[in-house]
Amino acid sequence: MNIKSVEVFPLKVKNGPVYLGSSPAGMSSESDYYIRPEYRSIYSRNLETLLVKITTESGIYGWGEALAPVGPEITGAIIERLFTSLLIGRDARDIDVIWSCLYDSMRERGYFTGFMVDAITAVDVALWDLLGKSVGLPIYQLLGGAYRRKIPAYVSGIPKTTREERIELALEWKAKGFTAIKLHLGFGVHEDAEIAAYMREALGPRFRLMIDAHWQYSVSEAIQLGRKLEKLDIDFLEAPTAPEDVEGTAEVSRALDMAVAIGEAKRTRYQFKDRLLKRAADIYQPDIGRTGITEAKKIANMAEAFNIPIAPHLSVGQGICIAATLHLSAAIPNLYILEYQPTVMSTANSLLIHPIVCEQGHYMLPEGPGLGVDIDEKQLRALI
Ligand code: MG
Repeated sequence: MNIKSVEVFPLKVKNGPVYLGSSPAGMSSESDYYIRPEYRSIYSRNLETLLVKITTESGIYGWGEALAPVGPEITGAIIERLFTSLLIGRDARDIDVIWSCLYDSMRERGYFTGFMVDAITAVDVALWDLLGKSVGLPIYQLLGGAYRRKIPAYVSGIPKTTREERIELALEWKAKGFTAIKLHLGFGVHEDAEIAAYMREALGPRFRLMIDAHWQYSVSEAIQLGRKLEKLDIDFLEAPTAPEDVEGTAEVSRALDMAVAIGEAKRTRYQFKDRLLKRAADIYQPDIGRTGITEAKKIANMAEAFNIPIAPHLSVGQGICIAATLHLSAAIPNLYILEYQPTVMSTANSLLIHPIVCEQGHYMLPEGPGLGVDIDEKQLRALI
């Protein structure tokens, strides 16, 4: 089971659907990237990700993916230039040992997160896929078994701009059997509360609604917004304040009865530890495209000891990332609900031999060995 080769595939799907809806006007059309002013974050015009294929001397291979919404070649270069020499010849089954080896390799220089851990993630997922294929078992089984085979999902985003359009699209999802939607807001306390109010009215009292504030608010603004949202029975308020402000987020959590959710930008158990100890939030949202399976399992187990549920984050991760998230979501007792990005799913499935299914408010857990999905390599190579 020794590793023979490591191949990276930085993927940029042109003309894909734009994440969170239409991109802002006035940006340079020459670059792949632009800043979305309301969120201050850089976004790509393409659907970007980083795939990795690890093959053993016996010919068994595994696919991994790191969430790489911008600059997948950067994550890929870390794997090629730093990690490949550490991986070749090692037993692919030593997943935890390899994780530690890669993490330790740049630790003394202060690389604890970011692209570095994204690169470890891609390797980690590929090794789990490989292990599952080598013993003929799905990853969730190797993680200790499935607490559930249908993974509850919420629709992430109603990428429309007017009240009428938003209500129309949300009602379409409701008609398709979905029972939960998250709105990407952060447009100001009053506008957010107004949008939440008309969506609540349109969708009815039992429909689950979540609000992502994209870190836009001060502590006092977040509490002000939260109090308005509580009256609308909003499920959770995500990322109300700056991601670095652990104490501020804890203050918001304490002030509100409604749940506060955070964690998409955090990658390791060390980053979650401090937040858990300070009870900074009520729900944690690790992204398996940033944590990998090994670390996500540790984070979820740690959260479990604090009686805190996990609602994994899923944004533009493609099929391998989605499948890895499904196995992790099946194999933890404290799953809250999983994110579903309808606009990403068609591209993701176009690269898979068997599609991932999310219907009637649930994902189906893939059942084959490893991730239970496989990349259509011909299709992938045609896109590179
Ligand atoms: Mg978010």
